[in-house]
Amino acid sequence: MTDIVNKGLLLIISSPSGAGKTTICKKLIDEVDDINLSVSVTTRKKRKDEIEGKHYFFKNEDEFRILLKQNQFLEYANVFGCLYGTLKNEVVSKINRGIDVIVDIDWQGTRQISKQLPKDVVKVFILPPSMKELENRLGKRDSEDKENFKKRMSEAKKEISHYKEYDFVVVNSDLQLAVDQIKLILFSERLRRYRQLTLSKTIEKLI
Ligand code: 5GP
Repeated sequence: MTDIVNKGLLLIISSPSGAGKTTICKKLIDEVDDINLSVSVTTRKKRKDEIEGKHYFFKNEDEFRILLKQNQFLEYANVFGCLYGTLKNEVVSKINRGIDVIVDIDWQGTRQISKQLPKDVVKVFILPPSMKELENRLGKRDSEDKENFKKRMSEAKKEISHYKEYDFVVVNSDLQLAVDQIKLILFSERLRRYRQLTLSKTIEKLI
């Protein structure tokens, strides 16, 4: 039997800040083969527990603008007053080599990437079980100051209002269940006919 070679897909995960998206993405990377996490560039300040090159590439605004001029971004957006961008080289060559890529971006970036790579994206929106729970989760981040916390709560509502632009919606009330649901989405999407690049050869041999 011929091994079927797949084109990789871009699994876009969005949610309001504090809905557990980072933990979900980390678990997906740990539990699924042949998937990478795209590391974004940001002008936001590094948090205590974050590592350069693992969580983000931290740049100042001038450095960010240089990358922008060099056309290195697949998308970029201003989120909470800071710039965030997805690098083309974190994504495009990987999906062309059959590796799936997870991108954790907001609704603005999702719109831009969807326009550029409409057949490659699978868009998942994660909801918190309640706003109370979201408040609890955001409040626990000791690196957030009070004003930032308030800003993020109001931004969370705005982000949620874009849920209709996504293919799938997952409620993160039970972490492992949410991860398993996203795995089901991913495994099904991997089977889409047009992603299976050598399918016609396989069929030729069969009939
Ligand atoms: P945080 O600062 O909490 O890590 O992320 C804030 C928001 O920025 C989150 O909603 C996250 O998904 C979004 N974000 C992170 N990286 C990117 C990116 O490369 N592009 C866009 N458009 N949004 C991003």
